[in-house]
Amino acid sequence: MAKGEESKSETKKTTSTSKSGKSSASGASKAKSSTSMKSASTKSATKKSSSKAKTEEKGNYDDKPIVEVGKKNVKVAGVKMKKKTALKIALAIIAIILVAVIVFVVLYETKPDFKNTVDEWWKYNFVDKGNGNGNGGSSSGGGNSGGSTVISEGELQVHMLDVGQGDCILILFPDGKEMLIDCGNKSTGYNYEETTKPYLEKYITDGQIDYLMLTHCDEDHVDQLDKVLAGFVVDNIYMPNVKSGSTKDKFAEQFAALPADRVAMFTDEDTIDSDVYTKFYLGALTEVASDGNLADIILNVGNFAIEGETYKIDFFGYTAEEWKTTNLSNAHKKNAISPIGILQYNGKRVVLTGDSNVENEPIFIKKAKEFYGVDKLDCDVLKVGHHGSETSTTDEFLDFITVEYAFISCKAAGNTFYHPRQATLDRLIARNITFYRTDLNGNIVCKISGTTIAFTVDTEVDKSVLDVGLTGKTS
Ligand SMILES: [Zn+2]
Repeated sequence: MAKGEESKSETKKTTSTSKSGKSSASGASKAKSSTSMKSASTKSATKKSSSKAKTEEKGNYDDKPIVEVGKKNVKVAGVKMKKKTALKIALAIIAIILVAVIVFVVLYETKPDFKNTVDEWWKYNFVDKGNGNGNGGSSSGGGNSGGSTVISEGELQVHMLDVGQGDCILILFPDGKEMLIDCGNKSTGYNYEETTKPYLEKYITDGQIDYLMLTHCDEDHVDQLDKVLAGFVVDNIYMPNVKSGSTKDKFAEQFAALPADRVAMFTDEDTIDSDVYTKFYLGALTEVASDGNLADIILNVGNFAIEGETYKIDFFGYTAEEWKTTNLSNAHKKNAISPIGILQYNGKRVVLTGDSNVENEPIFIKKAKEFYGVDKLDCDVLKVGHHGSETSTTDEFLDFITVEYAFISCKAAGNTFYHPRQATLDRLIARNITFYRTDLNGNIVCKISGTTIAFTVDTEVDKSVLDVGLTGKTS
């Protein structure tokens, strides 16, 4: 570095000091005091040099300068001590920060649950989460609707429609996408055309559904889905790994027209032959998506996810191996093929179950423990499995997912299944879980806005009434 440059950089340093001094009120006063200190030291330096000159003039018999030098040494030592202490404090702070960073990184890399919480917090606080911008991705590369729903910005809603004995769940995502899970049963007295369809159309204003899922093949879940497929454009269809085995003549022509590669996707040996499942099966495999191509068919096999910029649902289904042993010969086995979903948004979790029961709940717990690396999964809302059946929502399941809220889709009056069962309600009551029931509350909407969860219902019902379930034959 040339000498000229050296002096230039010194000048720069001075300029920057005086600039920072101007930046704030306290900074300004600091600058002032440092200026006065500087002028004082300049004065003392002037004094010193003049006294030095005097000493030289008078000889070395004047001891005044020696005392002054001593004072100065004490001052310098004091400043050195202060500097040492400050250095120690600074080093300690740096060490604490370093340890904290290391602990954070280790937790982030080794604990998926911690990583998820951090990611959600980051997304919630720093990622733009506008409604209707249609920029949410999807694991299956699904549709690109946007602005089709009428919900508040940044809000996620889970609607449990009152469809009597059955399930119909509509999820409205904050990016304008939506998901419909199952769709009720007309034989229980509810009317799709008069109640469900207008309800869906109120929220799905562009007639297009991004994700549709059938959890299992029972009538109270699949019955009206062929009408949904006919009335809405569906881009992605999630369904059981089960073929329709119907041999009825009335479907022969439609079966013959099915694309062979789509039929070949199904690996389970069992078939379901009911007309309601067959109608859905035929409709799903030939559904035309919004891009003009056939809708994507995703079988409920293994772990799979639906996700956008700010939300995710992890689904835990039977693996291909487990599907081989499902044996769909009885109601219990048929229900247990329902995948269990963990919907995550803004650090909140909603558990989706279909008609899951004592058979697949333990399998889910095992998989979720491994997947999230936790012993308990801190969730918030439970969609109670199988309409509040006694053989679903076991103590082990409730101990694992730990929720504060629950909602139950059921029809107690005249219900031969005796749903919801008192024993199931008692398990919720014992854990102080606040719950709602479609048979008493009508349509139930769970809204996650920011980090707040709120429920709205058609009809407010006293807890003492909600707490009373049915007893009767075991279901
Ligand atoms: Zn059911």
